[in-house]
Amino acid sequence: MPRRKKEEQPQEEIKTIKTPSMIDGTKDVMPSEAKYWDFLENQVRSAIHDYSFIRMRTPVVEKFELFNHTLFKQPGLADRELFTLIDKGLKVALRPEATSSVARAFVKHNMINQTMPIKTYCWGPMFRQGKVAPNKLRQFTQASFEIIGDGAPAIDAELIVVAYNLVHNLGLDVEVILNSLGCVVCRLEYSKSLSGYLKSKRAGICADCRKKTTKDPLKFLTCTNPKCLRLKEDAPQTVDWLCDECRNHLFRVLEYLDELKIPYRLDSSLVRTFDYYNKTVFELRSIEEGENESVAVAGGGRYDYLVEMVGGESTPAAGFAVGLERVINLLKTKKVEIPKPAGPDVFVTQIGEQARQQIYTFFEILRKEKFTVKGNFSKASLKAQLDIAIKLNAKFVLILGQKEVVENTILLRDLDSGIQEVFPRDRVIPEIKKRLREKRKRA
Ligand SMILES: [Zn+2]
Ligand SMILES: [Zn+2]
Repeated sequence: MPRRKKEEQPQEEIKTIKTPSMIDGTKDVMPSEAKYWDFLENQVRSAIHDYSFIRMRTPVVEKFELFNHTLFKQPGLADRELFTLIDKGLKVALRPEATSSVARAFVKHNMINQTMPIKTYCWGPMFRQGKVAPNKLRQFTQASFEIIGDGAPAIDAELIVVAYNLVHNLGLDVEVILNSLGCVVCRLEYSKSLSGYLKSKRAGICADCRKKTTKDPLKFLTCTNPKCLRLKEDAPQTVDWLCDECRNHLFRVLEYLDELKIPYRLDSSLVRTFDYYNKTVFELRSIEEGENESVAVAGGGRYDYLVEMVGGESTPAAGFAVGLERVINLLKTKKVEIPKPAGPDVFVTQIGEQARQQIYTFFEILRKEKFTVKGNFSKASLKAQLDIAIKLNAKFVLILGQKEVVENTILLRDLDSGIQEVFPRDRVIPEIKKRLREKRKRA
């Protein structure tokens, strides 16, 4: 039977739609941004490793009641701030931060029976509903560090040091701003005093504060309305209301920071977005000149009541989180030069179909031998492949052409000197090893 021409054959219709737009506050991280992410993630990894934190992975989704209970004192705020959904009648929320989940996991898995303190970190996407603003992401990435089971001021200082060194080593100028919110005793005293002050100034404060501060007077401290800013100067200061224990704790933290030469600024109006903090709270903010507003890239503090709040035994703890997108934005606006990653040891190239087939096998052999190796198997021209090798800053290039396929040899080219020599294929690996050692010695 004669075959019908292709265009006459019936074919399945591909249905198309207009490309869907993205959800507000989400973004694609494109390959062009990869160098920033690689650089930052490597620095985070090295901090985790050097300061001995061990990874924990908690779910992205938790019961709404967890965050509703831990994060906000003000009723209704969790509903406005969190991404919530109903799962078969159960209200759940996408995590806006990791610390509440870590505390929940600490209780669930009886981690209290382990050797304290536990140093752990979480890393991943977080979600906040909130208002949509041009530079505000509703899905963002955080690396958060927690030290659970130790109330000593040295722990607060250690966390500040980890955060500061992590951001500072990226090439960013930041300052540490800190405050103490006190304990359940002095925080209550302070809160009463601030509440009294706000009542006496009720006519002068902004409408938003008039509403919010009856439940939580501390919200006044974060208000940026000019009316409230003016009144803030005469308002009671947290540090003046600290009990002896909390004051000593704060001073010990500051002594450690002085000793470690970490620049800091005490700011008694600093409070954090989430309400579980007590004693030390801190933020790392970019240092800006002129009109530019500084950006908080990391923040945290002590949360000695959180484990108890989620049904566990009273356990002191502290932590901080770094916002990775914010750091990357800052790296870009400050034009921080990203160090080029070291080039691969070997870049493999091929000419002709047979060589292309064989080079895959050889590529895997090189990987097994622990070389860092790269290749581009979609390019046919040697020139194009060599251009990539040069761009990647490869140390050696292996060239497999038709002649080498027949003779079971391979060409080894040193990209520094440009010299290339032929080697039997089984002898080239020890040769590269030897030359890499020599290169390292010379470097
Ligand atoms: Zn206190
Ligand atoms: Zn206000």
